[in-house]
Amino acid sequence: MYQAPRGTTDILPEDQDYWVFLEEKISEITRLYGYERIETPVFEDSSLYTRTTGEYTDIVQKEMYTFEDRGGNSLSLRPEGTPSVCRAYIQHGLQNKPQPVKLYYLTSIFRYERPQAGRYRQSHQFGCEAIGDADPALDAEIIDIAWRLYQAAGLQNISILINSIGCRECRPKYLEALKGHYSGKEEILCSDCKTRLVNNPLRLLDCKQPKCQDITDSAPRNIDFLCDECSAHLDKVKEYLVALELPYQLNHRLVRGLDYYSRTVFEVQPEDDRAQATIGGGGRYDYLIEELGGKPTPGVGIATGIERIILNMKKQGVEVPLLPSPRVLVAYMGDEAKKQAVRLTSDLREAGISTVNAASGKSLKAQLKQANTLGVSYTVILGEDEVKNSTAVLRDMTNASQEIVPFNKLLELLK
Ligand SMILES: [Zn+2]
Ligand SMILES: [Zn+2]
Repeated sequence: MYQAPRGTTDILPEDQDYWVFLEEKISEITRLYGYERIETPVFEDSSLYTRTTGEYTDIVQKEMYTFEDRGGNSLSLRPEGTPSVCRAYIQHGLQNKPQPVKLYYLTSIFRYERPQAGRYRQSHQFGCEAIGDADPALDAEIIDIAWRLYQAAGLQNISILINSIGCRECRPKYLEALKGHYSGKEEILCSDCKTRLVNNPLRLLDCKQPKCQDITDSAPRNIDFLCDECSAHLDKVKEYLVALELPYQLNHRLVRGLDYYSRTVFEVQPEDDRAQATIGGGGRYDYLIEELGGKPTPGVGIATGIERIILNMKKQGVEVPLLPSPRVLVAYMGDEAKKQAVRLTSDLREAGISTVNAASGKSLKAQLKQANTLGVSYTVILGEDEVKNSTAVLRDMTNASQEIVPFNKLLELLK
């Protein structure tokens, strides 16, 4: 017997109500904010991710699904959305459109993760990107979109954490100070952090190992090293967040796991369950497009995991409307009646009434049982007598009352 690959999951019809609910909210909210949908390929050139997400990040080093195709090209399944969107922005000349270009995606991502609650090897992300403008109001807007979705999803007790990791000018000075703080303490650091100290020092702040956290607690803070421009940008982001009444906290340890961020980074986390980690996160990436060979173009984005949102909705007891069942079932006895039933079903659908035919080869009793299971409001019954007399039995399933009606009046009655 085959099983779905480890860390993947089937989303069965009975699980779809949360998905449909969120998909509808996302399409509503993105329209409100003027973001247009983009869909990029499931796989890209592997080097797209090593150059942007970062060669020394966990995503690229440990989690990416990389394979060689039959033409000998190294491809990777998309582990996150932003690099593809920026690649598409350059490839299709979107810099020639009025800026900023505002895009969103709702798509699957692939990461070889250790499977646990809300964490899958194939999962789904909703992400927004505002590209072509360094305006700090866009940082706030991007956070606001995600926040509106969380509000619509009924999530409570979640908080926004923000930080600034500076720019090309001010970050090197901070990294020096950070390295200085950790050097001489290599003995105590976990093996990952020993490598980070050399390859990706900012990520030292991210380590969850207690022995590393002790050193992190006294580490210098990025915010104290920001240049005037970065400092002013962060102040503006905070001002706009206040104007939008978004509750945020500054968190000096927040760096995000990806290489391309500059200035603002942010995460949304459940307050009571930090271990379960982020529901959504993002930041500004003012050098990413340039890194990919485009003109220097600022950008900011956020991505949020659909499975994580649903997990938290269920944990918090948020219920969503059930998906509507068909309104009518057409039951029939005999060949002639079946022919009429097939036609009637089609006519009812044409009239916009969701209708199904009864399963074949079943007794009338079994067909009525099917109607109950489906939860339809009405059952139309066509038997030999009804066919002969051009009538039908119309059964109201809510009170099990039924009446004989002329066949040609059915459509009107059901409407
Ligand atoms: Zn700076
Ligand atoms: Zn560590």
